[in-house]
Amino acid sequence: MGDCLIDKRERVKMPVELRYHFRCKNDPTCKGHHIILLDWELNELARNIMQKDIDTASIEEKIRNKFYDYMKERDLYFVMGTHFRFKTWMIIGIFYLRKEDKKQKNLFDF
Ligand SMILES: [Zn+2]
Repeated sequence: MGDCLIDKRERVKMPVELRYHFRCKNDPTCKGHHIILLDWELNELARNIMQKDIDTASIEEKIRNKFYDYMKERDLYFVMGTHFRFKTWMIIGIFYLRKEDKKQKNLFDF
């Protein structure tokens, strides 16, 4: 029965569509990107909110709080990927570090 429930959950469509609009930091010719986020955390947050809330504006507001306002306070990194069916870049994961957390940031300065 547990397997059946998990199976059902996996097949649930992404409840919301979120795209990040950004420009490449070290590329002055970059015209900007508008790329969809397919991240489990967004999916889970949306699902949790929608269990208690049915007002679309309120749901959007809560998702915006986490994935936009909150991220402005963080160093946000995207894990990019492509999909054979869509043939386009997607953000398949995100991670966000506290801005002042130098120890963690050093991981990227090899
Ligand atoms: Zn770019």
